[in-house]
Amino acid sequence: MLNDPEIDQQHREFARKMLLAYSLLAVLLLPIYQVLDLMWTDGIPSLWWSNAAWRALAVITALFGLLCIFRRQDGQGAPLMLRLLVMNVMLMMFGLFISNYFAPDGNVTLMVNGLIIIIFAAAPACLRGARELLLIFGVPFIATLLLMGWLDQSFRDSSYVLYNVVTSLIIALIISELLFRTRTALFEQQVELRKSAATDPLTGMNNRRFVEPQLHSEIARARRYNKTFSVVMADLDRFKRVNDDHGHNVGDAVLRLLAIRISETIRDEDRAVRWGGEEFLILMPEINAEQALLAAERIRRAVSARPFEIDGLSLSITISLGVAEYAGEENPETLIARADKNLYRAKDEGRNRVCADPS
Ligand code: GH3
Ligand code: MG
Ligand code: MG
Repeated sequence: MLNDPEIDQQHREFARKMLLAYSLLAVLLLPIYQVLDLMWTDGIPSLWWSNAAWRALAVITALFGLLCIFRRQDGQGAPLMLRLLVMNVMLMMFGLFISNYFAPDGNVTLMVNGLIIIIFAAAPACLRGARELLLIFGVPFIATLLLMGWLDQSFRDSSYVLYNVVTSLIIALIISELLFRTRTALFEQQVELRKSAATDPLTGMNNRRFVEPQLHSEIARARRYNKTFSVVMADLDRFKRVNDDHGHNVGDAVLRLLAIRISETIRDEDRAVRWGGEEFLILMPEINAEQALLAAERIRRAVSARPFEIDGLSLSITISLGVAEYAGEENPETLIARADKNLYRAKDEGRNRVCADPS
């Protein structure tokens, strides 16, 4: 199974949706049950009140669940709240079951039905599948039965309770595990798909689709916190000649080696992507034009310093780069157009060089 922050995020989003649905259900349905209890617990006010106390526990947790949903849009805390809600609803059901079981006119059948409904309702909400359901329901259920057997030697209705609830639990465990596995496989597929759509297959670098949202968020960050950042556009010099002289495969190998040299030269915070054919874009957060010029110069030197060794060939490759620091642009296109303009100036001035805006 993949262990990936994006998959965790998907699990959190799922937990948030489940928490919303289940909190609303608890807040709406449990008071209705409490009103219906006026008929079901006819003439036993103490039982009505103890039922109300158990249901209040679950309703209060559900209200906290709703609060968590509206305060944390990103789903942080939702898995924990969902688990708490499921656990408290289980606790409520055990409480209702036990207090009705021991009350002289308690409604055991109704509570066994309640247990069964709750087991099936919990099955899809158990984020880790069967083991979670077993922990939340199975273990407390066995403990409850042992306690009841110990408190009440005759253990009235035990076979009825055992058969129906245990059968439901087994079915619910299977449902819960199947749903968990299907969900995880689906999340993994989605993340894989998104990653492969954002990766250039030739160089293994990220592509334009990956960096475009990052450019937008860098612009938003620069505006909000009055920060700066720079972009560098790089283009191989006379690359057509490499293809013409040595073939497309050698050209491809040059691109692969170039991707390695660029990646080795930049900082961890910088993002280098293959922008198009033989053009690369490097996004440099928190870097001004002066620093970006130095960084671009390091890349230029890393490319020209040593020849590219491919299939016994030793190719001298050079690259031209254009630098642009963020200057209040509304969108990435205008900023990149400026880096492009500087790149073309570098080409015009003889290639194998870096150009920035004239200061
Ligand atoms: P300049 O210095 O002006 O940039 O000259 P250039 O020859 O590099 O520029 P031009 O835009 O004329 O040619 C770019 C070449 O890049 C054309 C194309 O054959 C090559 N190219 C683009 N993508 C790939 C690729 O994926 N693999 C290979 N082998 N070549 C590619
Ligand atoms: Mg080009
Ligand atoms: Mg070129």
